[in-house]
Amino acid sequence: MTVPPKDPSTNNDHVTADRRVITGLGASGGIVIGRAFVLNRQYVQVSRKPIDDNAVQDEIKRLHDAVAESIDQLKRLKSQSANVGGAASEELGFLMDAYIHMLTESRLVRGAEDLIKSRQLNAVHAVSEVIDVIANQFSGIDDRYIAARASDIRDVGLRLMRCLIGETDRVADMAPTGSILIAEDVSPADMARFNPGQLTAFVTALGGAEGHTAIMARSLGIPAVLGAAEIIRGVSGGDQIIVDGGRGEVILSPTEDDIAHYTQRRADWLAARDKLASLRDVPSATRDGVDIDLHANIELPIELSAALENGASGIGLLRSEFMFMNKDYLPDEDEQYEELADIVKRMDGKPVTIRTLDIGGEKLAVALQADMGSGPNPALGLRGIRLSLRKPELLEAQFGAILRASLHGNVRVLIPMVVSVHEMTRTRQIYEAVAKRLRKQGHAIPDQLPPLGAMIEIPAAAIAVDTLARECDFFAIGTNDLTQYTLAIDRTDDQVAGLFDALHPSVLRLIRDVIKLSNERDIPISVCGEMAGDPRYVPLFIGFGLRNLSMSPVNLLLVKQRLRRLDTRNSKHQADRVMEQWDSARIAMMLDDFNDLA
Ligand code: PEP
Ligand code: MG
Repeated sequence: MTVPPKDPSTNNDHVTADRRVITGLGASGGIVIGRAFVLNRQYVQVSRKPIDDNAVQDEIKRLHDAVAESIDQLKRLKSQSANVGGAASEELGFLMDAYIHMLTESRLVRGAEDLIKSRQLNAVHAVSEVIDVIANQFSGIDDRYIAARASDIRDVGLRLMRCLIGETDRVADMAPTGSILIAEDVSPADMARFNPGQLTAFVTALGGAEGHTAIMARSLGIPAVLGAAEIIRGVSGGDQIIVDGGRGEVILSPTEDDIAHYTQRRADWLAARDKLASLRDVPSATRDGVDIDLHANIELPIELSAALENGASGIGLLRSEFMFMNKDYLPDEDEQYEELADIVKRMDGKPVTIRTLDIGGEKLAVALQADMGSGPNPALGLRGIRLSLRKPELLEAQFGAILRASLHGNVRVLIPMVVSVHEMTRTRQIYEAVAKRLRKQGHAIPDQLPPLGAMIEIPAAAIAVDTLARECDFFAIGTNDLTQYTLAIDRTDDQVAGLFDALHPSVLRLIRDVIKLSNERDIPISVCGEMAGDPRYVPLFIGFGLRNLSMSPVNLLLVKQRLRRLDTRNSKHQADRVMEQWDSARIAMMLDDFNDLA
């Protein structure tokens, strides 16, 4: 590696002397007082494999694609920094412009292109050589301003190299146990790689509160603030900081009063959590005695203990992506079987709904990158069942593993991103063919295959849910994507995070109508998007006739507490009134009122 690494924990470029409060999106609640670990991602493994004559043009194209991706990232950071306000916003804006400039028709890009052509270096090697040359020239000049430009060119070059090689580094592994991670961005794949217990909280400059990074933080109970643009220039490794994940605030250089105040708030937060724990074994039923199933969503196997500790009566959504996102190879049927069988056994006969692979969009798997390419609009691209049907060998291995694991308990199989009944028909054919193959190979699988159901998370599926009913044994409404696709709001984009509105009447009508049709036809129906874990929405769902909610384990007891105070007839009346409204702000207020009355 040619770029000398800085020690991420001692980045003292920007010393914070005075108390400051930085705000972002409160993505995962909780209060933590601790030391910052700044993830600079200064470590890039530069492979030096020369390329063939006939690969030169392809390598140059790769370089230009990576330049475009880097510029795109910088523009996102710049736009996010506009929310910061004041001088800090201007400073960040100028810096991002300078970085973009360094990548536009620059010596850096031209130099790398020349090296690819003249010495047939691979792109990442060429970039690292050019950075060395430019940065060394700058740092030889005895001027603090110019020396700082050397560090800027290294930053830009590192970003470019990371785009070239894909983000597979494990820098966060070096965070001291108990630290608070500060990073430009944390991807769901990064989350899957974190060691449990290592990080107490994290703060990022980018990211929306509805994306998978936020969902995983909530499930793991790690307080998080996302989309806090100022953080990238505001904090140094080792600084003591306070993170308030519920309010979306980060306090830099806290005073003694702050420490005392937040220590008390943290104690209150922990006490409230302990108090809820007493609800673990009480029945999950409304005041008028209607049983409600509360299931857990699981992103990573380590969350299973939390699900059980919080009294989940099943797993309503096992996101099988975890088996793919933290590996650089594709796990085969046997490996997937081992992981799934373990979870099914530990659930001891309680229902486990395993969703087939929903890679794509923001959730990436290194081993599948080549197959998927990067379409112009990943959220609308090769995702979920579309990818699985394009690569049936993926689906066959998954079905094989799930069917074998189903012998150990009570399994249901859930298909993501379904739009049309043909997808389900084809999926069922593959499912039955795999069952036949397994029997022939002598594997034991149940006589009656586990139910096969569809996620209702795309408006087309919700509107024509009756057509899907022909091929589906059950439905699970995914409110995260249903909101994203109904409102055309990217759930991961901090720029439009304020517009992501699950209470929009169009979203609520879709949810209500899907629940109604399912109940009329006796098709089991659940809601497993993030809305299900928000206690404020419980009366609405109960009023719509829903009896099964699946959520992050941390929310199970809060939701139970709320539903035990409700009466189903009253909730039905309240839901009817909500559906007469046309303004989501008014709907939110009404729901708050209903909850206060409950
Ligand atoms: C959803 O879209 O609501 C859902 C549960 O699926 P995911 O969040 O994994 O996309
Ligand atoms: Mg979804």
